[in-house]
Amino acid sequence: MAKAKYTTHIGMVDILPGEVEKWRALEAIIHEEAAKFNFEEIRTPILEQTELIVRGVGQLTDIVSKEIFAFKKGDSHYVLRPELTAPVVRSYVQHHLNQRGGSQKLYYIGPMFRAEKPQKGRQRQFHQFGVEIMGSNDPVADVECIAFMMRIYQRIGIENFELKVNSVGDPESREAYKTALRDYLGPNLDKLSEVSQKRFEKNPMRILDSKEAEDQEFIKQAPVIRDFLNEETEEHFENVLAYLDDLSISYTEDPYLVRGMDYYTRTAFELTSPDLGSQDALAGGGRYDLLVEEIGGPSTPAVGFAAGMERLLIACEELDIKLAEPKSVDVYFVSLGDEARKWALTHLPKAREAGISTTMDYMGRSMKAQMKDANRENADYAVIVGSNELAEGKFTLRNMRESEEMSLSFDQIIEKLASR
Ligand code: AMP
Repeated sequence: MAKAKYTTHIGMVDILPGEVEKWRALEAIIHEEAAKFNFEEIRTPILEQTELIVRGVGQLTDIVSKEIFAFKKGDSHYVLRPELTAPVVRSYVQHHLNQRGGSQKLYYIGPMFRAEKPQKGRQRQFHQFGVEIMGSNDPVADVECIAFMMRIYQRIGIENFELKVNSVGDPESREAYKTALRDYLGPNLDKLSEVSQKRFEKNPMRILDSKEAEDQEFIKQAPVIRDFLNEETEEHFENVLAYLDDLSISYTEDPYLVRGMDYYTRTAFELTSPDLGSQDALAGGGRYDLLVEEIGGPSTPAVGFAAGMERLLIACEELDIKLAEPKSVDVYFVSLGDEARKWALTHLPKAREAGISTTMDYMGRSMKAQMKDANRENADYAVIVGSNELAEGKFTLRNMRESEEMSLSFDQIIEKLASR
């Protein structure tokens, strides 16, 4: 086939018919489960102010320093949203959602944009679903958030994964830990990778997230943050772990788990799957108790997670999990001659009104070609309409799966198909 002149940008993909059914099935599961957890959906714009993302996600993060798609138009600086926590927090503050009372339990589904190097499971436009629970300090909120995330995978049948949890501390514990990390890493600074050396002063905890070979030996022996948590933060973390046990959610404590955004405090977690290859993170999240204030709102503890939908679908494929049936149509009207075509056209709406999905030939094809098309469309039935059938008021209803035929009036056909 000739190469198309215009194609999608690298790392951005079309979701075509045949694929889209899986997406809709996944979205339906997310909406259903969210309703069971009493989460409310929130939809925010694709474009946000650059300043919000820089402040929210953090100037020194990979997302902000390397991956955002940003542009200027007039006097405004726009960014294609790379994640949704900062935008949801913006919306919460802008619309004073705290005034609705209680904690706000929000969820979202939608596209995100990061200018990363594309590979399997890593795109420049990708989709996430996630939740944000705002206004609660309680470890119950952390655990409900994790439970919702786990529920989605469990419902789909993806059970082979690892939940890693850690506490990244509150600001006080973190300062103590950063000092300890610098003391530990400092003498070997010149042996660390270049990126890690850059992170040493401002954000030494991010060194723990390094994938560079030369850093691994030092990371393995590094002090662990748990030893530096103050009493309150330690208690919060212990409660999170105890509630996870109460819910029989298995986890591994990973003392070196840090996340890619600056806003996390206290609980951090990540779900990985061995079925995914090198991009093995299915989902991740944690607490961000300071973010609301950071972007101009009232002091509001909060916790959330985001999950990659492409990766979830890759895992389904690896595990041979079918989220959706192949597309089909209830009945295909095969019509021969102008009068029959007109009859079919004017009877399609009646079938549809009765809840039956239906289509007809739009290309004036022969009967044989129309029957072939009915097969291609995966029709359960075909109704054959020619001049004899019109004169008699009886039509051939063919069961395409079982190759059986019967002669029925239009009303009988509708009755039979509608009662299936
Ligand atoms: P993050 O917002 O970075 O915590 O990512 C949350 C989840 O989104 C990850 O665990 C991935 O499943 C997914 N994700 C992040 N970046 C990408 C990407 N570039 N392409 C596909 N999925 C992604």
